[in-house]
Amino acid sequence: PWLSLALVGTMLVTAACSDSTSGDIAAPDRGVVGLAMPTKGSARWIGDGENMVKQFTLLGYRTDLQYAADDVQTQIDQIDAMVERGDKALVVGAINGSALKDVLAKAAAADIPVISYDRLIRDSGDVDFYATFDNYRVGVLQGSYIVDALGLKRGRGPFNLELFAGSADDNNATFFFNGAMSVLRPYIGRGRLVVRSGQTSFAAVATQRWDGTVARQRMARILAASYGSARLDAVLSPYDGISRGILEAVKAAGYRGSQLPVLTGQDAELDSVKLIAAGQQGQTVYKDTRELAKVAVQMTNSLLTGGTPEVNDTKQYNNGVKTVPTFLLQPVNVDKSNYRRVLVEGGYYTADQLAG
Ligand code: BGC
Repeated sequence: PWLSLALVGTMLVTAACSDSTSGDIAAPDRGVVGLAMPTKGSARWIGDGENMVKQFTLLGYRTDLQYAADDVQTQIDQIDAMVERGDKALVVGAINGSALKDVLAKAAAADIPVISYDRLIRDSGDVDFYATFDNYRVGVLQGSYIVDALGLKRGRGPFNLELFAGSADDNNATFFFNGAMSVLRPYIGRGRLVVRSGQTSFAAVATQRWDGTVARQRMARILAASYGSARLDAVLSPYDGISRGILEAVKAAGYRGSQLPVLTGQDAELDSVKLIAAGQQGQTVYKDTRELAKVAVQMTNSLLTGGTPEVNDTKQYNNGVKTVPTFLLQPVNVDKSNYRRVLVEGGYYTADQLAG
């Protein structure tokens, strides 16, 4: 499919060029696609937006890229304005996955197709397709990293572990947590991993809006209340911004160097990859957002040109009203052993960025 995307791109660029020289072919203008992204507070979403704009532009679309500063009502208003302006299609990375039902009904009434981007939009029948990574697998990678790093399979332990999950209103957060717990729960059940805070349910460990400060404060409270002279050996964290908050709390409690707990993350954010290189964060999950942008652009273009978007999962993602046809990309485990190969050789970061 990427080949055909590239071909169409080349054809359009060619058409546009011949227009500028001969003046007799109209430049392609396929209308505006609305891109509603959640926040600029985390680097990945900025990259997602930029990558989609680039690729839509190559295909002859204009884009209307909006960020909602993680405020649910702002996002609803932005999508509403896109519908009012008659955007041809919407690509939405939801803040609260369950808050968009009414505004998407309005989009549907205007025949505007909707692609759910990265996060599943819930409780609405007006979501046409979903482009994301294998979210359950993200959690499995995080849980497996903890098991391997602690040597649990070699019979080491017991170890103390604390759990953090993402924002409860983001459908992905449950998938990440369930994936990780599918690996960790057996060890907790056998007492090889001990959660001294006793907080093990998703509701107890969720972090509103993925906020690193909220996580830092919760980690500090847990260390003060449940640790005393006991040592914290590992922390399940779903996202790099949360991991950095946890690391701050752990350092403030006096952990240094090899005492630092095994710590997971997600998104391969630059600051966190530097912490991985420095041995302070163990792992992150890399999701190549350039590829996700390609999938979403391909889906949208296909819908707008009478085609059928390619999907590879039609079972996992029921949003409460319908099972949304999905294209899943594969997440990649990144740690000290492979970050250079995956992220630098893969062109995601330059060596200078990591050194700086
Ligand atoms: C995304 C993650 C991201 C998190 C916080 C999730 O929905 O899938 O990649 O870390 O939101 O922004």
